[in-house]
Amino acid sequence: MIISGKEFKPIITEDQIKDRIEDLGKTISLDYKGFDLTIVAILNGSFIFAADLIRTLSVSCSITFVKFKSYEGISSTGKVNEILGIDDSLEGKNILILDDIIDTGLTINSLIEKISQDNPASIRVAALCFKPEVFKMNYPVDYLGFPIENKFIVGYGLDFDGVGRGLKSIYQLV
Ligand code: 5GP
Ligand code: MG
Repeated sequence: MIISGKEFKPIITEDQIKDRIEDLGKTISLDYKGFDLTIVAILNGSFIFAADLIRTLSVSCSITFVKFKSYEGISSTGKVNEILGIDDSLEGKNILILDDIIDTGLTINSLIEKISQDNPASIRVAALCFKPEVFKMNYPVDYLGFPIENKFIVGYGLDFDGVGRGLKSIYQLV
């Protein structure tokens, strides 16, 4: 498939994504049973993952969105810019940070540092995809959908040059 002039091949199907998210939802619901959960999802990429995951959860949960940007074109810039922050205090809350993909891990690292200042009860991390080869942080990724190769992907919320977010499967740059 050609997106913005580059060739991509499918690597994770719509069904695989659906099954994996249902599994993650079950695990998260068990882990947080009896607790209130506050999801902090990172825009733009995580909006579809967040929408699908939240509908698999059986625990009471609220969701808020933050907007961070570290990627330009097809690679990380090494800097994280906050574009939209959090209004409510997260003090005493059980936070689950949600992102579409963790690459170097910098984006979530900045968010963890920021949220920690509010003294939440706990912070955990969930990501649909994860590139273990380039991850260079030391926090755990508690809920992980798919470990993938260090290659650029698009679809299911992830864009290439602003397009491709609506694709139902995930595609890799060839
Ligand atoms: P990190 O800060 O972990 O290096 O980068 C995380 C962010 O970079 C993700 O939220 C996502 O927006 C973007 N990103 C990382 N890898 C990819 C990729 O392969 N494809 C796309 N479209 N975005 C990516
Ligand atoms: Mg992102």
